[in-house]
Amino acid sequence: MTLLRHTSKEIKDRSALTINPAKTCQPVGAMYAALGIHGCLPHSHGSQGCCSYHRSMLTRHYKEPVYAGTSSFTEGASVFGGQANLLQAFQNIFEIYDPDVVAVHSTCLSETIGDDMPQIADKAVKEGKVPEGKVVVTASTPSYVGSHVTGFANMVQGMVKGLATKKDKKNGKINVIPGFVEPSDMGEIKRLCKLMDVPIILFPDTDGVLNGPLTGKHKMFPDGGVTVEELRDTANSMGTLALGEWGSSLAAKYLDSTHKVPCQILGLPLGLTATDSFIDALRKMAGKSVPAEISFERGQLVDVMKDYHQYLYRRKVALAGDPDQLIALTEFLVSLDMIPAHIVTGTPGKKFEERIREITKDVPYKVNVKVEGDMFMLHQWIKNDPVDLLIGNTYMKYIARDEDIPLVRHGLPILDRVGHQYFPTVGYKGGLRLLEKILDAILTRKDRDDPETSFELAL
Ligand code: SF4
Repeated sequence: MTLLRHTSKEIKDRSALTINPAKTCQPVGAMYAALGIHGCLPHSHGSQGCCSYHRSMLTRHYKEPVYAGTSSFTEGASVFGGQANLLQAFQNIFEIYDPDVVAVHSTCLSETIGDDMPQIADKAVKEGKVPEGKVVVTASTPSYVGSHVTGFANMVQGMVKGLATKKDKKNGKINVIPGFVEPSDMGEIKRLCKLMDVPIILFPDTDGVLNGPLTGKHKMFPDGGVTVEELRDTANSMGTLALGEWGSSLAAKYLDSTHKVPCQILGLPLGLTATDSFIDALRKMAGKSVPAEISFERGQLVDVMKDYHQYLYRRKVALAGDPDQLIALTEFLVSLDMIPAHIVTGTPGKKFEERIREITKDVPYKVNVKVEGDMFMLHQWIKNDPVDLLIGNTYMKYIARDEDIPLVRHGLPILDRVGHQYFPTVGYKGGLRLLEKILDAILTRKDRDDPETSFELAL
């Protein structure tokens, strides 16, 4: 018996019903972003169910403890406002957990009743509920707008809105906003910038926070994360590179318009062409040349792309996930002569379809794209027009099993495998890893399906 046996082949237009969404709500993205500040406790201003769900989602994805406070709204607070809850929360949090920063985001409840979080935070400071030297930042993250990616972007903007402080002198650094990517990806971006000899401020930075070691000693606030000082200094950088329009452009534009830090918005540096664009932009903005080590890594990726091209050529792929990731993945698949046949994202944004159409304009195939689509839709497309490979999060495993198609796990959440927080998929090295995963899935299937007469030792 198939697990998704109620998914029909016949496609009917749906306007009100979403089934198996390809997104989740804003606060989880804001919580993830806040964890990328050193010494920060994220705080969810709403009822406590949201907070425990978002913590458990991140914990199951990272297999790491994820701490966050909540204003724990009751029915009374839901009617008369949550100011008293948040003021009490600040007092308790600083007394008991002693973070350097509390990053507050909202939920659909506090947004619907219209709580003014910056005003409440201000009141908390004036009443001495925020100790000297400690910091509060806020971001409005209504769950009925956008997705978790929007929440991430809002919190990243909240960081610079709350902290960026202009000085007379430039700091000689470049701000890099990595987008909604894994801690391993943030680590890889830092490594590439170091190889380029470019001093950067990377924010947020969850590397070392959600991929840390087991030492036998528990640290509520791990060593990683961008510091408050660095966030203040973002206003004095030479420029900002925002990686991924959906995840990073808000903060970059804010720094540009408010503090005159010029910004450039790029795609996520995933795959050959997108990594080239990132390295090139870094080179130009910092006035540096590309070192031999980076050219060597690029050459390795090109070598493997060429060596295995015959197994990838015209293979069809179905993808679901976040817009910045999907744009970069589609570009990578097209560069491998693969066919991104069906693509859905749950995150709204008109530009997404335009961008995908532009990337796939020379693909000899009718590509299905749905913005604010769901995995039910994706499954129906696959039933009508089967593919060779799926790329997406753990929820895709049901389609993979029912339709007997290999799945490469990529995106949020991955609940049943490890690796995403330790091994990057950005940069040339990350591209190599992603390519290895794609090839492994396709060649393992080939080994399973080939008749004995063509079951080859060497491929
Ligand atoms: S949709 Fe609203 S109620 Fe549900 S988890 Fe998100 S913030 Fe909470």
